[in-house]
Amino acid sequence: MLPLLLACVDPTDSAEGGSASDSGDVVSTLPTEVPLAEVDVLVIGAGAGGLASAWAARDAGASVIIVEREVVAGGATPNAGNYWAAGTSWQADGGVEDSAALALSEWSSFTGGDGDSPVVQAFVEGSAGVLDWLVSLGAGFDLSIAIAADTGSKPRFHQLSHTSARPPVNAVAETLVAESWFQTTATELVLDGDDVAGVWVTDAAGARGWIHAAAVVVATGGFTRNDAIVFEALPALEAQDTWIESFPGMDGNGLAMAGAAGAAEQNMDHLGIYAHGVADAKIGQPEVMVIAGLDSALVVDAAGVRVTDERQFGSVSMGTRYLTEGPYYAIADDVLWTRLSLQGRGFNYLEDPEGIMLTAAAYEALVPVAQGEDAEALGSALGIDGAGLAASLDRYNTDAATGTDTEFGKPSYVFTPLGKAPFRGLPIVLGRAKSFGGLATNIDGAVLRADGSVIVGLYAAGEACGFLGDPAIGSGLNGSVTSAWWSGLRSGAAAAGAAGG
Ligand SMILES: Cc1cc2nc3c(=O)[nH]c(=O)nc-3n(C[C@H](O)[C@H](O)[C@H](O)COP(=O)(O)OP(=O)(O)OC[C@H]3O[C@@H](n4cnc5c(N)ncnc54)[C@H](O)[C@@H]3O)c2cc1C
Repeated sequence: MLPLLLACVDPTDSAEGGSASDSGDVVSTLPTEVPLAEVDVLVIGAGAGGLASAWAARDAGASVIIVEREVVAGGATPNAGNYWAAGTSWQADGGVEDSAALALSEWSSFTGGDGDSPVVQAFVEGSAGVLDWLVSLGAGFDLSIAIAADTGSKPRFHQLSHTSARPPVNAVAETLVAESWFQTTATELVLDGDDVAGVWVTDAAGARGWIHAAAVVVATGGFTRNDAIVFEALPALEAQDTWIESFPGMDGNGLAMAGAAGAAEQNMDHLGIYAHGVADAKIGQPEVMVIAGLDSALVVDAAGVRVTDERQFGSVSMGTRYLTEGPYYAIADDVLWTRLSLQGRGFNYLEDPEGIMLTAAAYEALVPVAQGEDAEALGSALGIDGAGLAASLDRYNTDAATGTDTEFGKPSYVFTPLGKAPFRGLPIVLGRAKSFGGLATNIDGAVLRADGSVIVGLYAAGEACGFLGDPAIGSGLNGSVTSAWWSGLRSGAAAAGAAGG
């Protein structure tokens, strides 16, 4: 293994030379300059995928550096509160009979992917272990007893515990303080022949240098904020207004870096898109506020026809339906309106944490909301078919009065009549949330070329590879952050093995 020579970026050490970035490319040949450091495993990005990679590589005995362009670790990951896992101790303690085998048997039904795929099997079988590992470092989870959309037939959401436990990012990042270089941005990979041999980085002061590494893990997050990549992957989205609920850093820069080294992409059209929000009343387009309480509303299409059990709007599959059957509208009566709230995305409210949640009334004070004394009038105010809406509301209320949803089976705890005027309607927007496609990898997390050959020295983790690096993930699952951690552990261990071998 290579010794670690230097563990800090010196802003005055502005190495120049072999970098191809001077000519606008995103790949470099082996520079002649002295590297800032030599290391076994260099990880780009300190979110779930990168932190887990760095932890696993160091645990396997490798020297590690993790470069992160922000001032702290985390990326999108601190926002994730729901972790998918099957066959866990929390489920057993809660009397939920589940197993990896059961989850695999139904994998295709809730992801559209392939439960026979070796990488899916390895992830599902390892999912409970990811949570156990995070707990061993100080994190904590509680099982959510409700069955969430796009998670299969059992309760598989494990929510972050808000008791004495630490957030997973903090728990892992605190073990990697010595290895972490913050405000350090990877700009291009360094190639030695066809093999990856390091990374050029730039620090906050603009000083550049390169780090010589036996293996590099790309864990830069997804691409949902990059219009060019999104529209090429999913042209149908270009016809929609742009709404985004993913972390600001999801720019897909890791795809460009790895692509310049010959990496292939996979599953790119499987974007996690959600139809559960409205325009952020304070920030405006393209930022989104999620409708809390949408489960209890009536949701209709432009013909005024009810779409599904409204709980399904927590799933990416409803986002995909929106592309061909939307737009959709959330309908509330005056009673439900007083119970609804609109929740901004955490990354937009770091300076204003108290302002993240608006009551529906507070939202209405900022943004005009369509309303009517009856369904026909509301339909007209919303610009949708009022007669269709009236028929749907009538049927909804008739069923809700009996407690039995004869159309879609929504349970009674979220199925009460909507009878008190005035009625209000919110046009639901389609928010891009995460990427279930990205760099193609093999089962060890090694990045592949289009011909299936491995790029020696290059690995990927997290959303940069669409979580599993394989189309077998299908259109994705809710609680996928578990797979970001899992793929990081996988790639870090493999990268350390390659560096030591
Ligand atoms: C509001 C919100 C709520 C969410 N809720 C959930 C949930 O409940 N459950 C769930 O499963 N998922 C949820 N997600 C999605 C989940 O957070 C992400 O899928 C996951 O955290 C991705 O992890 P990652 O490691 O791939 O990327 P990230 O956590 O984004 O980490 C990537 C890191 O790479 C850094 N980086 C990028 N490029 C460079 C570069 N060139 N050089 C150096 N550093 C770089 C970034 O700054 C970032 O820190 C949510 C996301 C958001 C935004």
